[in-house]
Amino acid sequence: MTMNTHGRPTQPAAPTGHANTGEHRGMILEEPLIFERGTPGRIGVDLPPVPAHKSRLGSASRQGQIGLPDLAEPQVVRHFTRLSQKNYGIDSVFYPLGSCTMKHNPRLNEKMARLPGFADLHPLQPTATTQGALGLMHELAHWLMTLTGMAGVTLAPAAGAHGEFCGMAAIKAAIRARGEKRTRVLVPESAHGTNPATAAALGFTVDAIPATAEGRVDLDALKAKLGPDVAGIMLTNPNTCGLFERDIIAIADLIHGAGGYFYCDGANFNAIVGRVRPADLGVDCMHINLHKTFSTPHGGGGPGSGPVVFSKALAPFAPLPFVQKEGEACRLIESKADKAAGQSFGRMKAFHGQMGMFIRALSYILSHGADGLRQVANDAVLNANYILARLQDVMSAPFAGPCMHEALFDDRFLKDTGVTTLDIAKMLIDRGYHPMTMYFPLVVPGAFLIEPTETESRETLDGFIKTMRDLAQQAKAGTGNANANPFKQAPEHTPRRRLDETTAARQPILKWKPEAAPDYIASAAE
Ligand SMILES: *Cc1c(COP(=O)(O)O)cnc(C)c1O
Repeated sequence: MTMNTHGRPTQPAAPTGHANTGEHRGMILEEPLIFERGTPGRIGVDLPPVPAHKSRLGSASRQGQIGLPDLAEPQVVRHFTRLSQKNYGIDSVFYPLGSCTMKHNPRLNEKMARLPGFADLHPLQPTATTQGALGLMHELAHWLMTLTGMAGVTLAPAAGAHGEFCGMAAIKAAIRARGEKRTRVLVPESAHGTNPATAAALGFTVDAIPATAEGRVDLDALKAKLGPDVAGIMLTNPNTCGLFERDIIAIADLIHGAGGYFYCDGANFNAIVGRVRPADLGVDCMHINLHKTFSTPHGGGGPGSGPVVFSKALAPFAPLPFVQKEGEACRLIESKADKAAGQSFGRMKAFHGQMGMFIRALSYILSHGADGLRQVANDAVLNANYILARLQDVMSAPFAGPCMHEALFDDRFLKDTGVTTLDIAKMLIDRGYHPMTMYFPLVVPGAFLIEPTETESRETLDGFIKTMRDLAQQAKAGTGNANANPFKQAPEHTPRRRLDETTAARQPILKWKPEAAPDYIASAAE
């Protein structure tokens, strides 16, 4: 890997022979660290001299200069403006990532979350002054229970994975309350990595269930694994292959028959919301990612929020705190000593959950209504099937459609082309698209997982489909000799090209170290 003078990875020389430093492509500018831009003595603002004073910091007083770079105001403005433009996100472009990534955060939600009464709340305020907020939490809880048909809900978990932990902790508490010891959790091979990680984090052993050639749970394999030590199953529905588990009721009956609980990973609830109630499928608990189904910001725009719904059997074990309505007043049940706390397993986090996300999710639910939410699921599934149908003649789909909310392809269509799934992803960047989810689910070789969701227009989908068709056809038409393979050169239009992702992950360089820095920086960097 080539490093710049500051030890940061940089791109190898461009094929044209231009030096890379300072070479811009299109309007995407090379942007060094602001520390690398400073010139000693340059000044952006005049501050009045500090009046004479006696320092009272003692041994805590600063030993050297703080090492801030010296810059003029326009340099600062441009630097941070350019950084802000490096945000590639759903507000600027189509984002085909699979596994339930929202593509739009409605502005109405933002407006609601910014209402002063909500925005200025503090979690330690006396509940007499936060009745409106608690009422909102209670109403959101009501709608989540109504949409899933479940008996209880907690809003506390801070993400989907945290919700999984919560649900499995409730299952563990319920098993303990029965005076039993069950240590094994069944997890299908196609599961999101968080499922086995959650079970393991709670001390369960994880037992993988293979998938059928159809991409669904192998019922016979499941039956063979049942036993008195099975605590439950963690099953995603629709699953990570974008398919509905048709045998889900049989699976629920089998697991219940063996005395275990059915944890459903509900990250993909957006495909069935308003159409199917998980309670009717025999689910005992399920997390709902508000950032995947109810339009709250995802990823860097988060935070996430992962409420968990519970069946009657598990509801008494739900974590604290929760809101209970008593007459017109909302009361917060915060301690196990409270009679209303049931057999709660305790707290998951300091406060009540992600309040800002509750406001956004409820805004989304109320602005859609029952018919609108049903249409969300319909349109998400329709859009994914449109992509599957328009690409399956040039790409290869491992499972027969129709699919649910996402379209899955494998890399068989790339056989003998010298092009890989990763190469296509890199080419997509040059063509203006963030790559789809790739190499996941693990059970599908060279997977392409594409999820348009319900908010993309026909024109956007057609543009993406055209690009994918072009790339598939270009790969199949042959790429000339291996050295000139354009797929291996991509991306060409980004300031950085192919990154050494393994080294970046294993040995991240997180601190800027000046090489031959002026004294004032060197002393501060020590
Ligand atoms: C996203 C996802 C998770 C984890 O949710 P986070 O909110 O990212 O923690 C779990 N399971 C599946 C199937 C997912 O898609």
